[in-house]
Amino acid sequence: MPTADSVTARQITVDGPQRIMTIRWGDDHESVYPFDLLRKECPCALCDDERKKKAEQQKKGGLTLAVMKGPILRAGEAQVTDVQKVGHYAIKFTWQDGHDTGIYSYEFLRALCPCPRCAGERTG
Ligand SMILES: [Zn+2]
Ligand SMILES: [Zn+2]
Repeated sequence: MPTADSVTARQITVDGPQRIMTIRWGDDHESVYPFDLLRKECPCALCDDERKKKAEQQKKGGLTLAVMKGPILRAGEAQVTDVQKVGHYAIKFTWQDGHDTGIYSYEFLRALCPCPRCAGERTG
């Protein structure tokens, strides 16, 4: 279970040129998120749908034929144009393609932390 401190963001730095966001948490842990990761994991209903469709296709096996359109950008293209606080529990990005419906709660972001320590805890 996440503690209150571990899902409280103390400092958030969005670095456009480097295309990373850094969060310093209440428990002193630091998470570094590449924009590509954040864009790919966008928690909005639209992107969720896209990911589910893709996963279903992969499960069925056989030929996968897909035309990628819509909000999912290729790696290396995701760029944040704006970031806003949503209440006390989340932040919201505006991406350079205009997509801005994803609300990233701190709990979600903490669970997404790509550092080896957190990744290790998730896989056991
Ligand atoms: Zn989205
Ligand atoms: Zn971590």
